[in-house]
Amino acid sequence: MQISESKRLFAHAKTFIPGGVNSPVRAFRAVGGEPIFIKKADGAYLFDEDGNSYIELINSWGPMILGHNHPMIREAVIQAMENGTSFGAPTAREVEMAELIVKMVPSVEKVRMVNSGTEATMSAIRVARGFTGRDKFIKMEGHYHGHGDSFLISAGSGAITMGNPDSPGVTVGTAKDTLLAPYNDLEAIERLVEANKGEIAALILEPVPGNMGLTLPLPGYLEGLREICTREGIVLIFDEVMTGFRLAKGGAQELFGVTPDMTTLGKIIGGGMPVGAYGGKKEIMQFVSPAGPVYQAGTLSGNPIAMAAGLAMLRYLDTHPEVYAQLALIGRKIAEGITKINHDQNLNYTVNFVGSMYSLFFTQQPVIDFESAKTSDTVLFGRYFQEMLKRGVYLAPSQFESLFLSTALTDELIGRILLAHEESIRVIH
Ligand code: PLP
Repeated sequence: MQISESKRLFAHAKTFIPGGVNSPVRAFRAVGGEPIFIKKADGAYLFDEDGNSYIELINSWGPMILGHNHPMIREAVIQAMENGTSFGAPTAREVEMAELIVKMVPSVEKVRMVNSGTEATMSAIRVARGFTGRDKFIKMEGHYHGHGDSFLISAGSGAITMGNPDSPGVTVGTAKDTLLAPYNDLEAIERLVEANKGEIAALILEPVPGNMGLTLPLPGYLEGLREICTREGIVLIFDEVMTGFRLAKGGAQELFGVTPDMTTLGKIIGGGMPVGAYGGKKEIMQFVSPAGPVYQAGTLSGNPIAMAAGLAMLRYLDTHPEVYAQLALIGRKIAEGITKINHDQNLNYTVNFVGSMYSLFFTQQPVIDFESAKTSDTVLFGRYFQEMLKRGVYLAPSQFESLFLSTALTDELIGRILLAHEESIRVIH
């Protein structure tokens, strides 16, 4: 595999861009080596600047659930472009988008569009604080909610990968209002609530966390959180930036049958364009400006091109519910395939999966929270990543990420992924 053009570009990039990349985990620090520069993507494939192609299992960190460069989304964007790229004024598409989200996501009665998942979570916390008149909120260890200051405390995703969970620049004053709890531990929540009685505005979590590697809620856990939050007047926020429109049409809340008070969305909702959204119960969302006193705004929010791409995606998912059974089958074939190959080599590594998300952890412990996720052998993961890449399979360049599958993965491609896995796992042991 020749990667000289990627190497040249990375060296050049470092002169002008901090670390050579516009988002830390792209730098391949956690897995060694240097990043591959991508020229284009199509279906299940990424193509790099040196002419190599890769079967890809990240799908732009989640958005490309139908694979890359889908004709339907491409056409929608081209058509929208004919009329200009931004107006900074209301459009019909935004209204249709809001209506569709309200229809698809159980907890959402009103919704506000923003430009990223980070904006969505920052805004949701502000609204929850405005609504309750309380300052503190609970966050789970290892969960990632974007790079807003108050979330960069025991954060997952790139923040773990960079070994920098408590970022300089986040003030002690900000951090003191973020209360940390381990995921999947209801007693820990009860203790926090008791110690901070009447002071907690919100509890935010990834209902199915992907940012410490994929981890699943234990039976009764989400229901338990719902009960505690209702009892204590705490706004329960599901961060479904990853899981929204992916685990089911209505996200993890539909799949697990637990309805939060607010939901944050991103990724799939933009069809690959920069979009996020937050929504929830009417009485809470009525606090958002100009309906209410909590300020939140955006020059490009509801951007017409982004709305066109997102609408094309959501309309398709809404009218093709069979996509979710197809994705779940793809996920099962890959996750069970790699589990069997591992077992045949006497390697009982943990594989967590649900629908079209999975993680292979290089640990034999069940992974149910941040502590257990951290028992993974990240050096071994790095070697596995490189071996898969050599065989033309592009994984997330960190142990602490979920993989995201798309409908573009045919049985033939799944066979090639499993073959690459079998060879890679043998080479690294
Ligand atoms: N919330 C979750 C669960 C995420 O996974 C992410 C990003 O990966 C975010 C929020 C932040 O979204 P963005 O990167 O669009 O700001």
